[in-house]
Amino acid sequence: MPRLFFLFLDGVGLGEEDPARNPFAAAVMPSLLALLEGRQLVLSAAPFEGRRATLLALDPCLGVEGAPQSASGQATILTGRNVPAEIGGHYGPKPNPPIREILRHDSLFHRVLARGGTAALLNAYPPRYFQAIDSRHRIYSAIPLAATAAGLSLMTAEDLQAGRALSADFTAEGWAAQPGFPPAPILTPSAAGQSLARLSAAYDLAWFDYWLSDYAGHRGTPEAAIDLLQAFDSVLGGLVEEWGDREDLVLLTSDHGNLEDLTARGHTRNPVPALLIGPARLRETFAAGLRDLTHIASAVMRLLFPSTSA
Ligand SMILES: [Zn+2]
Repeated sequence: MPRLFFLFLDGVGLGEEDPARNPFAAAVMPSLLALLEGRQLVLSAAPFEGRRATLLALDPCLGVEGAPQSASGQATILTGRNVPAEIGGHYGPKPNPPIREILRHDSLFHRVLARGGTAALLNAYPPRYFQAIDSRHRIYSAIPLAATAAGLSLMTAEDLQAGRALSADFTAEGWAAQPGFPPAPILTPSAAGQSLARLSAAYDLAWFDYWLSDYAGHRGTPEAAIDLLQAFDSVLGGLVEEWGDREDLVLLTSDHGNLEDLTARGHTRNPVPALLIGPARLRETFAAGLRDLTHIASAVMRLLFPSTSA
């Protein structure tokens, strides 16, 4: 059975091919350029079907007014339900009680485990994070909430040290710079991508939650956004190189736009990318009927459990 590596990038939409406002049009991203056969990750590139990758533009607005938000968007991706419509608007960044109620009982993590599959969230969290959750100074965002509600354990500093998980910034450079964080080996971006490819091979559904892209869209300078994307491109390069011709799929997607338009420091209503990497027949099956965020969950279940319905 094919496996899926879900590379989730927060706050990444498909924007205009304008280097003055869109860092995806300004950054040097050779790995992405190779996958898209000379195209940048911008709106005019989608739809695209190439030798190694497929790019679709997905609607994150779902018929609901206002700018899409992280909690309702991620809950939609995780369940296939139109969560913004159900709860009466886009909501985020952290889940409100109705979203928490949905994710406590249902998500891709729940569904994969219920079918006897294996799943993991490959992010390592620092001790301070667990302390803040336990003391109720912090609540889970949608993805770790869904994972823990399904019965998965979040990975820790020990997992990071043992190479079983990666820090939120991929390389652990940011982790190591935090006062009080336990020591961790620092990887190059390319080695981090290779590590993601190897780790994801052990699970039917492996997920990595990258949120610094949304953070950079809200707060970073254009130069910082370009640096972030260029480092990300090296992660992607390492991932694709290590992936080789594995008969599995990588899905890179997002909950809403933000980083692709630095003229507005908030979320956009732009479509978000669904970038699929892997064998053509798996990409074709996965991409069938994929138009908005509500279609992702059933496509994942179709891929992982082809003989039964989602
Ligand atoms: Zn945001």
